[in-house]
Amino acid sequence: MVSFGVVMGDITRFPAEAIVNAANRYLEHGGGVAYAIAKAAAGDVREYIRISKEAMHEQLGKDSIEHGEVVVTPALGLERYGIKYVIHAVGPYCGGRWDEDKKEKLRKAILGALRKAEELGVKTIAFPAISAGIYGCPLEGVVRTFQETVEEFSQEAKSLEKVYLVLYSERDYDRARAVLENGD
Ligand code: ADP
Repeated sequence: MVSFGVVMGDITRFPAEAIVNAANRYLEHGGGVAYAIAKAAAGDVREYIRISKEAMHEQLGKDSIEHGEVVVTPALGLERYGIKYVIHAVGPYCGGRWDEDKKEKLRKAILGALRKAEELGVKTIAFPAISAGIYGCPLEGVVRTFQETVEEFSQEAKSLEKVYLVLYSERDYDRARAVLENGD
């Protein structure tokens, strides 16, 4: 059984064996949580972009990723927190809108990362609120989709035990808790 929980914190210091990056298709890590992870992992963001693009070539044989595809890079400096892998996944761009198509794209991104974590044999994984920042998807829809997708994934999970959704601000954390508690 996989447990799902929301926590408040900085994902670049969160002690999960794998953390997920809310990446863009080209793994450019230009802003938001992607920039923060790249900076914390490699010190130099451009160096982590180089490592990520090289990993994308090796693992997928192409220059961009789709929703549901993932790329794994080493945690480098994040290892001091017990993090072993960074799994890059791409969520939908919403620009304030939310519909079944966005939800399905986010579901695919989450499932792709969960399956990769399983393949890597990790017990714990932490996600940021993918798409709820620069990509403009409503946090409530994002949190609900996380909850449903982890529940769906529970059926096939073997090594994975804990999935954390890490919210960066107290306000987002409170909103996420309200979604899980009130079902709205
Ligand atoms: P996207 O482009 O997928 O929307 P963003 O990086 O803009 O990705 O934001 C995704 C979420 O990650 C936002 O809710 C943002 O507040 C959050 N975030 C930003 N930095 C961190 C961090 N260091 N740890 C955890 N969450 C973070």
